[in-house]
Order: sequence, then C-alpha cells, then structure tokens
Amino acid sequence: MKRGTSAVRRLAPWLAAISLAAPYTLAQETTQPTSQADFGQCIGQLKDRALKEGVSPEVAQNVLDQVTFLDRVIELDRRQPEFTTTFADYLNRRVNEARIDKGRELLNTHAELLAKVSRETGVPAPYLVAFWGLETNFGSYFGKMSVPSALATLACDPRRSDYFSGELISALRIIDEGAIAPEQMEGSWAGAMGHVQFMPSVFLRYAVDADNDGKRDLWNSIPDAMMSAGNFLQSLGWNGDYRWGREVQLPPGFDYSLAGLKRERTLSEWRKLDVRDAFGKPLPQAAVDAALLVPAGHEGPAFLVYHNFHVIMGWNRSEYYALAVGHLADRIAGAGGLQNPPPEDLPRLSREDIEALQAALNQRGYDSGEPDGILGPATRSAIRDFQKDQKRIADGYPDPGLFEALDIKLQGTEAS
Ligand code: CA
Repeated sequence: MKRGTSAVRRLAPWLAAISLAAPYTLAQETTQPTSQADFGQCIGQLKDRALKEGVSPEVAQNVLDQVTFLDRVIELDRRQPEFTTTFADYLNRRVNEARIDKGRELLNTHAELLAKVSRETGVPAPYLVAFWGLETNFGSYFGKMSVPSALATLACDPRRSDYFSGELISALRIIDEGAIAPEQMEGSWAGAMGHVQFMPSVFLRYAVDADNDGKRDLWNSIPDAMMSAGNFLQSLGWNGDYRWGREVQLPPGFDYSLAGLKRERTLSEWRKLDVRDAFGKPLPQAAVDAALLVPAGHEGPAFLVYHNFHVIMGWNRSEYYALAVGHLADRIAGAGGLQNPPPEDLPRLSREDIEALQAALNQRGYDSGEPDGILGPATRSAIRDFQKDQKRIADGYPDPGLFEALDIKLQGTEAS
C-alpha cells in the first residue's frame, strides 16, 4: 500500500546531507521524481489542503490513506516519443472501418438519447459518438489506473505539482458527492476518467446527471456521459449551425505559406484563391472564417477548418486529434473516405533527423532557429524558403525528397 514510503523516510535526510557536501555529483539524484522525497509527508499536506477546501474529513482521510506512489505513472509522464507520428499513421489507427461501423451502430442504438443531447446542447449526434470512439473506443477501455493514486503521485512529483494537486482535490470532491466509490475510480495514468475521459476538474464543472439517478456517473451511465460531453462542448462554444470543417482541393501552384491554424480567411476569400471542395466544385460564397491545414504535405489531403475545430481543440490541443474527430464524425454520419487520403509511405522522423535537417538548413542560410529536434513554425518556414529556391513545391513538409536534397540520411523508420 505505501510501497517505498518508509525506505524513503530513512533515505531523505541522508540524501540531504550528502547533497550539501557534494552538490555536483548528486545533481542527477536530486532531480529524480518523488519516489525519493517523502510521499507520506506530501500526502499529509494534500490532506490539509483538501480539508481547507471543504472536502469532507471522511473522504480526505479514507482516500488519501489508501493512495500509493505509482512508479509507472512517473515513467509514463516522462516518456518522450522516439519518432514523429505521420498523419496517415495517426488517422488510420483512429478512424478505421471497424470504428466507423461501430459508431454508426451506436448512432442508431442511442438515437433517442443522442437526439435529446443535441437538442439541449446544439452538438450533433455524430460528433458525440466520434468523441466517444476516439476517447475510449465507445466505452471499451477506460484505463485501469487508480485515479486517486495516479493523481497523488503526480501531485507529489515536482514537474506539474500545482496542476495535479488541483485535479486530486477535484477527484476527492467527486468521491465526496457520491458519484463513484474511490476503489472504482479508475482511469488513465494522468487521471482522465470514464466513457469520455474527463479530467476531474472538467467532470466537476461539466458532468451532468442525465438519467436522474442522483449521481453524475461517467463510468456506468451512457446518458450521463453523452450529455456531459455535449455540455462540455457547448460550454467551449460549439456552434450548431456549422460543421467542423471540410476536405478541400488546392489549385496547382498554390501558395502553401497561406496554410496554418492562425491564418484564417473567409470562405469567399479561399474561393477567390481557387480552393475548391473535395470534389472540385467551387466553395460557397460565405463570410465564414476558415483556416487551411495540410497535415501531410502537398501529396496528402487539405482541409479548411472552422470555428468548431477550435472547440474540438479545447477538448484536446492537437490538430491531428481534431481532424480525426471531425473526419470520424463525418464518416459516422454517412460520408465516404477522404478524396485524397494521406500517403502511408512517408517516414516517421526521429528527433535527430529533425535536428540534422535544422542544422543543414541553417548552414545553407535558411534560418530554422537553434536546432531542437522539433518541427516548429520557424523550421517549416525555412523548409518552404529552401523548397522555393530549389523549385520544389514549397509546402514546408519534411518529405524524403527534402532530406535527399539536403544530403541527409534519414535515421527514422517508415510509418507502420
Ligand atoms: Ca446519473
């Protein structure tokens, strides 16, 4: 139950004494996470805070006496992806035939409930089902971590202690209101819970008891989970009059520097630039703001995304995630696949590959900033400038041809 706590108690003063004597040699140990600090003492402080913030003494006591430090949670928190994920890899894993079929089936099974949620929140049913599919494969996997222990571990770890302390207190409040028994409060390693993987603070603010059994239960009640998802999206500003975005076609010779989430123009302006819908028809004349995304370079699909795309990113700050939600929702609603699916043979890139790319661009006078292995806007822009000068299509995408032109041998592997 309190694995390692007593050993840590014994160790801590010893570490402190040594670190005074030899600060440099111990630099590594002292930056280790809290398995080294006093977890028990940290839990004591969290208990005080919970009581001060109005959590009942029974819950604060019972739950926090049971939490354990989970090394695995720290491990997962420190995990660095070895390679970039290609858009094809990301999308194909999340939007596949099995998931689309299941989504269509559930759209039908829960038609009445979903219609009610849509009426009350303005979020169309296919989006609700799409979030459900992406978050937990429609409730088939909630995560098996004890949420109180996972959050206590992260709260007592220095990296994001403030944030996770707040989430832990929120989790205690959820237990306090009787939504779920503490031993049944399971979720992801970072504390996301139930059918739609709400963090505790989101649960507290937006979860709804839609089936009127007196409990907001996002683990066992599909009505509660769907109404809560709709309520959260509505509060993030969902606009029921519009879709998330759409696939489009770009004309030959298109200027890819116009792409990017922050470069919005109206549909009418995109139309003037001869951007067309996925089937080649002209876009409507409308004053709707839209940004162009080209997540797999000029060989892959292009999308115009609207206001609701930003709402989806309020749920999860990833463009890939938001594109997957939008596309899955379209498919569940009956649409076919992308007209221009992302190429599957683009390589995943390692951090070293990207650093080598940045160094090579810098060396040739295309400023991509200090090489950091991250494909940020400066690197994209340097790639575009280089591509332009090389008379290549200047989409800012690091495809194999670019690495070849810069004499860099890729270390990454092809997308799986
Ligand atoms: Ca309920």
